Amino acid sequence: MSYVFHRHCHANLPIIDRGEGVYLFDKQGNVYLDACGGAAVSNLGHSHQAVKQAMLEQIERVPFAHTGFFTCDSSERLAELICRRMSDQFNHVYLVSGGSEAVESALKMARQYFVESGQPEKSLFIARQQSYHGNTLGALAVGGNEWRREPFKSILQPSHHIAPCYAYRHQKSGESELTYSLRAANELEAKILELGADNVMAFVVEPIVGATAGAVPATQGYFRRIREICDKYDVLLIMDEVMCGVGRSGSFFAFEQEDAEPDLVCMAKGLGAGYQPIGAVVANDKVYQAIASGSGFFQHGHTFMAHPVACAAAVATIESIEQQDLLQAVSQQGMRLRQELDHALVNLPYVGDIRGKGLFIGIELVADKQSKAPLPVSTLADKRIKRQAMQNGLMCYPMGGTIDGVNGHHVLLAPPFIIQPNHIDELVTKLARTLKEVSRQW
Ligand code: PLP
Repeated sequence: MSYVFHRHCHANLPIIDRGEGVYLFDKQGNVYLDACGGAAVSNLGHSHQAVKQAMLEQIERVPFAHTGFFTCDSSERLAELICRRMSDQFNHVYLVSGGSEAVESALKMARQYFVESGQPEKSLFIARQQSYHGNTLGALAVGGNEWRREPFKSILQPSHHIAPCYAYRHQKSGESELTYSLRAANELEAKILELGADNVMAFVVEPIVGATAGAVPATQGYFRRIREICDKYDVLLIMDEVMCGVGRSGSFFAFEQEDAEPDLVCMAKGLGAGYQPIGAVVANDKVYQAIASGSGFFQHGHTFMAHPVACAAAVATIESIEQQDLLQAVSQQGMRLRQELDHALVNLPYVGDIRGKGLFIGIELVADKQSKAPLPVSTLADKRIKRQAMQNGLMCYPMGGTIDGVNGHHVLLAPPFIIQPNHIDELVTKLARTLKEVSRQW
């Protein structure tokens, strides 16, 4: 009997005992190679001494001081470290406790920016189908993942969606990459014109779609055009890097690999590498100054925002990424993982697409490679793969509804940045074995 209200009420979960490097150990003595960081969280593995030490030192000095009364060294240092990684336009970081809080904060920041700039009629958000921006009501309302929204639709703020940039499914045969990028991005312009530019506040977008579609990066030129459209119609660009940020794609921010900068960028998950819950919104000077020189007060706030211990963990996480040269490791090991996956999975008839950037990789499963027809929903492929992988000592992150919230399946991989070639061999061997075992029951 468990008194915990688990996310799946009837799940029979193993009890975690300890973690070491890229491995987790349960109390029954089973060992799991962590190939997904839970949900792209555990970027430094499970026993990073520098992060633990930084948290202990902060707790020894002071575990908590409310942000209405004090600032603290760890939050000041964290905000500075993040801004140093960005262009001169970014000098203000709003620190919260997770991804949904970061997205909620960014949505409200966008709204307050327009209220303070004398454009209160701007009140609509546009996002993309198949995006996920969090589970709180505001973040869920902008998200485009239908099955997550469905039961709550009647209590969600209306929002508007365009198609994702999803070349595997939406690029027409014979269409060049650039033509497709422009066609996909121009949907934003059409939507803004349909709603009226005077009414649209912001476009919310994951630079690499994570959990819902399985590490789908944009095609070349997509974000340049998106930025142009946002500028033309005075629409803020909010990039949600909760899953793909903090080095996961091989650059600190995923948007660094695109030809566009956001106005607001949301971070979480890997920011504290799982050692502490933490999230952040970085605002550019335009947004910050409108509020600072207007009311001077962002009308938001949470009790645990800028928590000193969480900030200390995040400072140590970023410093470790720098000191251990982990961005380069992500690119190198990401390339290796891709090569090994291509080699091991290419001939499996149900592996349709392998994609992603750095150590953020999605494998889309299909019933037929030629037609790209999805596996029947009734295969429950995602649930079966997750269960079988755990039995094989592998944590991966499979999901259903890849294409439209109902159809399609993928497996998401997001292993710790400290992964070594022998772990990659183990990961690929275990994953290939799992897929073969499960596919016999399809
Ligand atoms: N945004 C994206 C892109 C995410 O992937 C997630 C979580 O998976 C969130 C927001 C919400 O973050 P959290 O679960 O920390 O609230």
